[in-house]
Amino acid sequence: MQAVRKIWRAIGVQEKLHILIQGALLILFFVLMEWVVDHFEMQIDRSAELRAEEAADGLINGMNMLMLTGQISDPENRRLFIEKMSKSQGIAEVRMLRGAAVNEQYGPGLPEEEPRDEIDRQVLATGMQVFQHMTGPDGRPLLRVVMPFIASENFRGTNCLSCHHTKLGGVNGAASVTIDLSVGQRQLQEMKDRLWIGHLVVQLLLLVLITLFVRHVIVRNITRPVKKLQQAMAGIEHDMDLSRRAEVDADNPDIGEMAKSFNLLVGKLEQATDRLQLFAKMFENSGEAILITDEKRNILTVNPAFEHITHFSAAEVLGKNPKILSSGKQTHEFYALMWGTIEITGKWSGEIWNRRKNGEIYPEWLSIAAVKNAKGEVINYISSFSDITKRKEAEQRIEFLAHYDSLTKLPNRALFSDRLRRALLLADRNKYKVGLMFLDLDKFKEVNDTLGHLAGDQLLQSVAERLRECVRASDTICRQGGDEFLILIEEIDSNTELTRIATKIMEAMSRPHLLGDLSRTVSFSIGAAMYPDDADDEQSLIKCADHAMYLAKESGRNNFKLYEHGDS
Ligand code: GH3
Ligand code: MG
Repeated sequence: MQAVRKIWRAIGVQEKLHILIQGALLILFFVLMEWVVDHFEMQIDRSAELRAEEAADGLINGMNMLMLTGQISDPENRRLFIEKMSKSQGIAEVRMLRGAAVNEQYGPGLPEEEPRDEIDRQVLATGMQVFQHMTGPDGRPLLRVVMPFIASENFRGTNCLSCHHTKLGGVNGAASVTIDLSVGQRQLQEMKDRLWIGHLVVQLLLLVLITLFVRHVIVRNITRPVKKLQQAMAGIEHDMDLSRRAEVDADNPDIGEMAKSFNLLVGKLEQATDRLQLFAKMFENSGEAILITDEKRNILTVNPAFEHITHFSAAEVLGKNPKILSSGKQTHEFYALMWGTIEITGKWSGEIWNRRKNGEIYPEWLSIAAVKNAKGEVINYISSFSDITKRKEAEQRIEFLAHYDSLTKLPNRALFSDRLRRALLLADRNKYKVGLMFLDLDKFKEVNDTLGHLAGDQLLQSVAERLRECVRASDTICRQGGDEFLILIEEIDSNTELTRIATKIMEAMSRPHLLGDLSRTVSFSIGAAMYPDDADDEQSLIKCADHAMYLAKESGRNNFKLYEHGDS
């Protein structure tokens, strides 16, 4: 049953229709044939009975004739008559039965005229006609009729078998005729055979007609529209022209629905493809390097920006681990924390140092995102990064400009003020002293006026360089503005240290500065003050040093003055 169901599901609509129509017609023909055969069988039986009755009737009439002509009393006449009748076609046996009260004119009886079996006796006793179907010794089918002849009022006084009986309704005798049914049965068989052949021919004809009809219906309603739709689909697939749509067949709702569904699918595919192309363009043209790995962090693809930043070609990195970019600047703990964050939150971003193919180390801003499937398993990692070398440089530059003098590269007033505050706090805590020197170039305007502003700038740079030579690395020199400088000397015991440094500076300044082809000597007027001896905060300390410097200027320049109480 399972196998039949499987086959039924596997075969096409055409075959299914075939089987159903052909099966229905077969059943119809069988029923029809059975009915026809039954009908003919009945007809044949009936005609056999009629023939038997006719023969029995003929026998009785013949006997009557013998009686009327006075030949009945001679048994030889009767035997000859019966023998003649027996030779009629289809007659197997004819017998004449004498009733109990048969007329004496009948003459002496023959042995065969005596009742032979129960049916003979029954008919003679009851006067009821009996039919009996039998099989002959050679196996042929036989039909026997035993027909009584009965004394009747109508024939009283006449000289016939039915009237010589004294008692009305009494049975005078009977005629037993057995006919051979094999002829009729043979005819029936022949008819059945013909019917079968006719049936077969009609079935074959119908099969051909149904096949042609079903084929026509299926080709017109299914095959042709499906083929048309399939061609449209194949065309779209072949050209990959997703803007095209298959024609919707309005006459064929089912195929039309298929075409609509297909068009809907193509529309969605077109949208998805457009979006994919957009992403592909973004991937290709992105200024940021993009790197996609599988779940094991092996590189699957990189974009042109990646090649540009790292100098590695795509072919060189595919299938490799992004570790090849590692600069070694980050610690093992750093990476462990990074991957831990990605595992928990699905993403990470931050600054990292990587290495180009040529070994150059560069800073980058890196973002990593984990891509998960519906089951929540990581299937890809997408990294995007940009080279932030320039940004870093700009930041450093801004940082430098915020805290340093761009001309001399010395700390500016803001940074100096910060360091001074910190120095005073440390001095308070550690109980030591801080020295502050205020320096102003003597007659610097003249340099600008005579040699030009550029030479003035060069001189300022050269002076700054000399000042650096005269102090410890831990001391801070600041260009306060114009030709004014401040020097912070931390941890000093006495002003002797300040005098020593001032002397060193004045000696250093006595050497000429090279300004291109020219050389020029310039001197400083220097004032100095001490914390906490001369002042108790930054501003007053600077003021004191400034005042001392003013005094040094006053005293003829190229001079050093320590602040003394009462000066102001
Ligand atoms: P004094 O001996 O009294 O200090 O005389 P001076 O000529 O040095 O005069 P002062 O200190 O008052 O003036 C400083 C001059 O420095 C004023 C200005 O023209 C010049 N100056 C200020 N900033 C710059 C600079 O960045 N570059 C150059 N080349 N000159 C500057
Ligand atoms: Mg000056």
